[in-house]
Amino acid sequence: MEDVVLPVAQKGEEVLNLVATKVSPREFGSLWLHQLSQAMQTTMKYHHGVGIAAPQVYVSKRIIIVASRPNPRYPDAPDMPEIVMVNPEILTASSEKCLGEEGCLSVKGERGRVLRAQKIVVEYYTVMGERIQQTFFGFPARIVQHEIDHLNGILFVSYL
Ligand code: ZN
Repeated sequence: MEDVVLPVAQKGEEVLNLVATKVSPREFGSLWLHQLSQAMQTTMKYHHGVGIAAPQVYVSKRIIIVASRPNPRYPDAPDMPEIVMVNPEILTASSEKCLGEEGCLSVKGERGRVLRAQKIVVEYYTVMGERIQQTFFGFPARIVQHEIDHLNGILFVSYL
């Protein structure tokens, strides 16, 4: 299961329009949550993504991965450790916004410049259920906002 590349839902498919449901506390630390996050990571890396959300692999649950690193799709991305976020929520977003280019594994061949908050504070749970608060700036903050949008049925192309 760990090395599985999952099929990626494409724009127009219903799962991408849904508001995803929260992972329940009972599911923290479960085998399925570990296996799903592993398979999401494998799928993201296979496609040179810098982030992925569970609805993109047909699971309508509030789970995202943020993994900024330079790759052929984003050569200038800063390097950061990969973070799996369960039930992520943006607590605060700076009024300062910045424009940056985005693409999406679910919107093949399309890129566009999207206005996003420069700085955000996010609260999320680890796969094991530990609650974390973390601040993100710039490109990683952009990825978090893009991926959380997926959990609310929003694709970046709706801003263009
Ligand atoms: Zn996306």
